[in-house]
Amino acid sequence: MSIQKVAIITGGGRGIGAATAQLFAKEGYAVCINYKSNSDSANKLAQSIMAEGGKCITVQADVSCEDDVIRMFSTVDRELGAISILVNNAGILKKQSRLENMSAERINSILTNNVTSYFLCCREAVKRMSTRNGGFGGVIVNVSSGAARSGSPNEYIDYAASKGAIDTLTKGLSLEVASEGIRVNCVRPGLIHTDMHADGGEPERIERLKSIIPLQRGGEPSEVAEAIYWLASDKASFSTGNYLDLAGGL
Ligand code: NAP
Repeated sequence: MSIQKVAIITGGGRGIGAATAQLFAKEGYAVCINYKSNSDSANKLAQSIMAEGGKCITVQADVSCEDDVIRMFSTVDRELGAISILVNNAGILKKQSRLENMSAERINSILTNNVTSYFLCCREAVKRMSTRNGGFGGVIVNVSSGAARSGSPNEYIDYAASKGAIDTLTKGLSLEVASEGIRVNCVRPGLIHTDMHADGGEPERIERLKSIIPLQRGGEPSEVAEAIYWLASDKASFSTGNYLDLAGGL
């Protein structure tokens, strides 16, 4: 009997993370659905996965907080077993603003939620996956953003810069652990239909911008989930340190 693979999806209760958790569960992974505060959506998703015969747990943890990350990984060790996939997906966005109006508090909050969190989860994953530490290898997929390329002027340079940091994390870590059985890649979604645009103060942002997207529409969370799944799978076995853009050509 083969051992069931285990995947942690941070921010897995809503949006892109929820579509990803659903797909991994459908493909036979035992999934940890992490969330920060919205327990309703995470629990609803878990119920629907289990109703389809999938295996999952929900774990509340603020991934920008070191103690929470350590607790989440030990919960997974205990309840699901050795992790083989980490999808670093949790992220936040603040209201659209020019840089000259950004407070230090806002900038620090973006950086701890979008960058420190990915570093901490990568650290805990590498400790467990690395063949250097007796692990069996694994895959990390980071969710960056097309904003890392555009810089998001007049909207959220802080968010864009946090995603630039994720591109660099992906490159550096992929090289650091390449000989230890771990692949590290990232996806860079463009405009995807989730609640995040409302957090930026413009729920209809995709409607305003879709005419400049070559495919003339926003993307669906499931379209990003498919790319994450492919990068995590053995079909992408020779891919590491890469960025997969999912932006409808933008
Ligand atoms: P979303 O619908 O707003 O969902 C964000 C998720 O992240 C939620 O599950 C939230 O938890 C979780 N989260 C946020 N901060 C967290 C923390 N500190 N600890 C644990 N969980 C936390 O956003 P989304 O659009 O799916 O975004 C997912 C990822 O895609 C993000 O990294 C985002 O930057 C990236 N992205 C999105 C787009 C887009 O157009 N939507 C484009 C490019 C990149 P709760 O449910 O508990 O609040």
